[in-house]
Amino acid sequence: MKRLRPFAHTIFAEMTALATTHDAVNLGQGFPDTDGPAGMLEAARKAIASGLNQYPPGPGMPVLRQAVARDRAARFGTEYDPGSEILVTVGATEAVSAAMLGLVEPGSEVVLIEPYYDSYAAAVALAGGIRKSVPLVADGDGFALDLDALRAAVTPATRMIVVNSPHNPTGTVFTDAELEAVADVARERDLLVLTDEVYEHLVFDGGHHTPIATLPGMFERTVTVSSAAKTFNATGWKTGWACGPAPLIDAVRTAKQFMSFVGAAPFQPAVAYALDNEQQWVLDLRDSLQRKRDTLAAALRHAGFGVKKSQGTYFVCADIAPLGFDDADSFCRALPERIGVVGVPVDAFVDHPEHWKTLVRFAFCKQDDVLAEAATRLTALR
Ligand code: PMP
Ligand code: GLN
Repeated sequence: MKRLRPFAHTIFAEMTALATTHDAVNLGQGFPDTDGPAGMLEAARKAIASGLNQYPPGPGMPVLRQAVARDRAARFGTEYDPGSEILVTVGATEAVSAAMLGLVEPGSEVVLIEPYYDSYAAAVALAGGIRKSVPLVADGDGFALDLDALRAAVTPATRMIVVNSPHNPTGTVFTDAELEAVADVARERDLLVLTDEVYEHLVFDGGHHTPIATLPGMFERTVTVSSAAKTFNATGWKTGWACGPAPLIDAVRTAKQFMSFVGAAPFQPAVAYALDNEQQWVLDLRDSLQRKRDTLAAALRHAGFGVKKSQGTYFVCADIAPLGFDDADSFCRALPERIGVVGVPVDAFVDHPEHWKTLVRFAFCKQDDVLAEAATRLTALR
């Protein structure tokens, strides 16, 4: 179908296939190579053994909805009613698609901040929406929101702005001032905000994460999405959630029930257990990822890349221009065979490739010996 033709193969599937073919170190697809907290894994085994193997309730098991509510209240002071304001989804991915299908009319416009996680554009297309993307701009060795461009992208047809902080692929954590400015636009133009906070715990260097839903006047217009994937090293559990005011969550639920009906049962009490009991594990994960970021950034710098600032997430972006290359897409397609390392070209996440021609995203959520091997292989570029 024409609407979905541009989305036939994700960049992650393509790059992971190249990694396999060339036995390359895969710093392309962002997934960790160690397990989550032992207590959480045990809780899932117990759930299966105790017979939690049939359909859970449509909105998700109460135990998980209550744990998500406690977690958001404890960390951010936001009170969500577990009965009507929290929906368990099949990962953040389903939450994003269901929010788009449930809240965006065909022909309405959705503003994305570019580069954007690939599923957003596909979800807008599934809903029959029209995407308007606003490129981030260079700010020192990092990136910032172009607020004038954001305002200019909003038209009378705009329904929603999608925010993602900490940001995949750049690792940018938006400042409170930037989030306030997005909130100003949303309030002034009466827009919904869909905020993807899957990396909410992975903020480095003493920085902090501000959920845009906590800003004045934003609770009632914001759907907040997160997931166990990146918080508890459980990308294969596909257990996420959407939180927001009841009318918005009801619309997301309406779409979700015909996408997957429900998510897998035994993971839900296990993730609830982790939210309640494994906060120290998550802090240790964050600190270990910060060290891994430093290791990979140093290796990339040593290999001759121009390394961008990464303030959170699993990712660091690196510029290939200082190495004498000008096209990240062909660079990334050749790299696995050339030196046995996989990265992802940032222009896979954009509508304005001319701004992003020379940037490559590398994932550092890998064991130290894997990063050390990548560092050795990268020196071959010098
Ligand atoms: N949003 C972002 C920004 C991501 O990087 C990812 C990849 N984990 C997802 C959503 C998907 O999350 P999940 O695996 O929970 O569907
Ligand atoms: N979220 C991960 C990334 O950005 C993996 C996504 C995927 O494989 N769909 O790399």
